[in-house]
Amino acid sequence: MKKMLPISIDDVSFIFGNNNYEANLQINACYCTKCQNGYKNTITNYTIFLNNLLDIQLNGFCGACYQTMGRYIETGEDPITAMNAEAIWETHITLQELKIKKED
Ligand SMILES: [Zn+2]
Repeated sequence: MKKMLPISIDDVSFIFGNNNYEANLQINACYCTKCQNGYKNTITNYTIFLNNLLDIQLNGFCGACYQTMGRYIETGEDPITAMNAEAIWETHITLQELKIKKED
């Protein structure tokens, strides 16, 4: 089963090693099934997830028509971004486990 962790813009910056998250996430090159403009729509109001393949997933809406829209970035395929994403993944999992322990 695919596991997903919500991550922040800061986590994204860490994964790519820079602060240019809008370009890294290609937020203005998304495909909208309703507008059918090619990959020319901008995703808006999105939530960012990291999945257990170390890829980034955005769940949001088309900036033009507000249809739900997703974006998938294969950070798990590149050795550098995969290494950084793994560090974020491990940190979040450790933190989650500590919180669960605290609740017991
Ligand atoms: Zn649209």
